[in-house]
Amino acid sequence: MVSIDVLERSSSEITLVLKDVPLEYANAVRRAVLEEVPTMAVDYVVFYDNTSALSDEIISHRISMIPLKSDTAIERYKQPEECKSSSPPDGCYTSLYLEAETGHQEELVVYSRDLKPQEDPEVIPVYRDIPILKLGPQQRVVLEAWARLGRGREHIKWSPAAVSVLTHVPMITIHADRCVMCRLCAENCPTKAIDVKDSKIQIDESKCTLCRQCVKVCRTEAVELDWRKDEYKLHVESSGVLKPERIVLEAMTQVKKKLQIFYEEFEKALSATGVKL
Ligand code: SF4
Ligand code: SF4
Repeated sequence: MVSIDVLERSSSEITLVLKDVPLEYANAVRRAVLEEVPTMAVDYVVFYDNTSALSDEIISHRISMIPLKSDTAIERYKQPEECKSSSPPDGCYTSLYLEAETGHQEELVVYSRDLKPQEDPEVIPVYRDIPILKLGPQQRVVLEAWARLGRGREHIKWSPAAVSVLTHVPMITIHADRCVMCRLCAENCPTKAIDVKDSKIQIDESKCTLCRQCVKVCRTEAVELDWRKDEYKLHVESSGVLKPERIVLEAMTQVKKKLQIFYEEFEKALSATGVKL
């Protein structure tokens, strides 16, 4: 029976153990985490003034890569598909304003915190201290950055996760009849998944990364390494735009929505050819 356990969770990361889940389903969720969950990011920038050493394009690119808080925006703004046209409808965009200037013999680093929300105080940079550019003496930059919901498959700036990986769940067996208690496996295990205490080998499979170092160093071939069938660990690290558990839930919702579209299109195709169910 399908089950999901939360192995580890923090404000930025989550690790789940998926049991009795076919690899195709687990992988669909993993990919949806990176490519399908909508988040806010700056999509275009209007420059009113730029006398800095950097071109408009470089500054725009840097601003577009700044993660923006998307917790509530994901429900309040129109979906990416509705906002791509040259004249998008209302409810697609919100803007942030940046104005910085230096005096005679003054220098200034402009940070993400200098991007001020104009309409929506909930769409702001996740991290305040990301440097955008440095102004030399008597330089000025004034711009408006427009953000909308998008998906990672369109551009990585909209991906909510820095990491989304699926790994096997290890199964380590030490064959006692061949083990000579030399401790080499424990000493060479980079994650301390194997330990020797009171002449007994202790194993913590949750720490194992399946690197096979223990198998390589054991001279008596006493270590057997395998993984559990239809059991996977899904590890997701958020970029900060959404909580990690929200990212996984949204990814599952997106997969479900796609299957629903698939189902409806198939029904239409069948009825077009006169097939009755
Ligand atoms: S390396 Fe092999 S023989 Fe040595 S303690 Fe580990 S399992 Fe036993
Ligand atoms: S496979 Fe690597 S991480 Fe796992 S127990 Fe062996 S040495 Fe440690």
